[in-house]
Amino acid sequence: MVEVRDFLGHEEVVEQFARCLSAGRLASSFLFVGPPGVGKRTFANRLAQALLCERSATHPLAACGHCSSCQLVAAGTHPDLDVVERPQDRAFIPLELLIGDPQHRLQEGLCHRLSLRPFRGGYRIAILDDADYLNAEGANCLLKTLEEPPPRSVLILVGTSQHKQLPTIRSRCQLVRFRPLPEALLERLLLDLGHATDPAEARQLARLGQGSLERALFWQGEEVAQFRRELYGHLSATCWDPVTLGKVIGAFVDRAGKEAAARRQRFKLVIDLATDYFHQLLRRLCGAGLEGDDVLAAAVDQGERTWRGDCETVNRCIERCLSATPQVDSNANQATLLECWLDDLSRLCWRLAPRVEV
Ligand SMILES: [Zn+2]
Repeated sequence: MVEVRDFLGHEEVVEQFARCLSAGRLASSFLFVGPPGVGKRTFANRLAQALLCERSATHPLAACGHCSSCQLVAAGTHPDLDVVERPQDRAFIPLELLIGDPQHRLQEGLCHRLSLRPFRGGYRIAILDDADYLNAEGANCLLKTLEEPPPRSVLILVGTSQHKQLPTIRSRCQLVRFRPLPEALLERLLLDLGHATDPAEARQLARLGQGSLERALFWQGEEVAQFRRELYGHLSATCWDPVTLGKVIGAFVDRAGKEAAARRQRFKLVIDLATDYFHQLLRRLCGAGLEGDDVLAAAVDQGERTWRGDCETVNRCIERCLSATPQVDSNANQATLLECWLDDLSRLCWRLAPRVEV
């Protein structure tokens, strides 16, 4: 049985849907937005299961888990539930997934299937994952479905931010925001799902995860742990060289492979780690307690001894890190971004004259 408590961490969204369903006013198109790895796709699946469940349940969002519809949803084979996502090797969601290939335009694809009458009597539901990767053509294909939704159809687009969606989509969907998961909940999830075996490890992963399970899981494993130690070793050293550190980070990002999104994700996580280090250094310099594990504590101890600047300088380092992340998302050349970021940071750390922009 899928209980309402399975939607932990997203109680506000549950309320929002429960109100609409109880009043019989469920919208046809939704845009789910929120950070990656907080459970948006899982929520979409559970919502679909609840809508398709054949047995009445105590709560509008609870599914029985036993009826044949529930079992088909769980197996990913329910004829009234369609899930489309961006293929790994494509930069955008291909049109054929939305409206069929050129030989079968509008006779296949998500829009066509959504227009069919429900096979099992309930709803026709489509989940379009990776909505951030809809290009203008793709968004246009969805236009008719969004403007004249087929009866008893529900389309759920899952993206990370409403600003990444084209206005065509944004203005025609009901926006549903998902927040990062609370740290304590993430910690419990990591233990319950078997991703961490001891509470200390779960606590540390939850902290690094910043509300995202996907992000927390990224920090598992010796390769990443080793890199983190190395990065902190550099940043807290008496004098660190941006060229040497650039090579260490470059190699770490390279190990993500060739896929641009995976490389960007790694680069952003490196920037987050550096932000975390400077944030904790600032807390230490201000006399506040450390938030972090032994690895970070050792780096901050060392950093405090070698730090030549004041609190304001650490603040500027944090600001420089925060300004680097959107640059990574802008698809600018990663090698150049890395070089500029580390060059600026090293100048701040060692209080040299700022670079003169030419
Ligand atoms: Zn059921």
